[in-house]
Amino acid sequence: MKKSVRKAVIAGNWKMNKTPSETTALINEMKPLVADADCDVVLCVPYIDIPAAVEAAKGSNIKIGAENIHFKASGAYTGEISADMLKEAGVEYVVVGHSERRTYFGETDQTVNLRTLAAVNAGFTAIVCVGETLEQRELGYTETLLKYQTKMALTNVKPEQLKNVIIAYEPVWAIGTGVTATAEQADEGNGYVRAAIAEAYGADAAEAVTVQYGGSMNAKNADELLEKVNVDGGLIGGASLKAEDFSIIVKAASK
Ligand code: PEP
Repeated sequence: MKKSVRKAVIAGNWKMNKTPSETTALINEMKPLVADADCDVVLCVPYIDIPAAVEAAKGSNIKIGAENIHFKASGAYTGEISADMLKEAGVEYVVVGHSERRTYFGETDQTVNLRTLAAVNAGFTAIVCVGETLEQRELGYTETLLKYQTKMALTNVKPEQLKNVIIAYEPVWAIGTGVTATAEQADEGNGYVRAAIAEAYGADAAEAVTVQYGGSMNAKNADELLEKVNVDGGLIGGASLKAEDFSIIVKAASK
């Protein structure tokens, strides 16, 4: 990783796990374990857990994120959460376009773009997820798809807003499956994402953007994945629910 230009970001994605009281307990357990991190440490938690997470993380190096954001400012959108609501709650990061949202909740490249814009326009850092299915990989579409998803997600994002964008390359076949991409596959996928950013914004801009890998990253494989030049951190699902495992990944990214 080009540490001279990019700082690693390790972000947990808790998905639909942990109640508010469990959130407080887990963050209190994590705080001392990640206190010396030489990377950014983020926990993206369910909406209901955000107040507890912000409170528990106060005074520590842990930043709190949400797992989604709606693209309208307010209105008749039952069950959705706006940028203003997240801002007031103390959120700094927002996950956008996770494959579970694309698969189960009808998220499209267009809505991912709208949510990305809502996030960056409100001053959050958007962690935008892209990734191919196993079928798409086997058909040889990985590069085309990653570049398309990346460019679609960033449509109308201004060059000066790129500092508020992280792209997470998450092969769908590796998420929550225990199957991890090899370090070479992760590096290659992240490289395609960076190439897409270079095509849209130029090489210098692309060099500065943090591109994470996500998909069954854990305490055992983090070192190997994070050593790769294009892997600037990780989006961590399952392993972010265990304080010690998460802290080992944070330490791997701090080397
Ligand atoms: C994720 O939720 O983004 C993820 C990568 O999950 P896991 O680490 O469990 O595969």
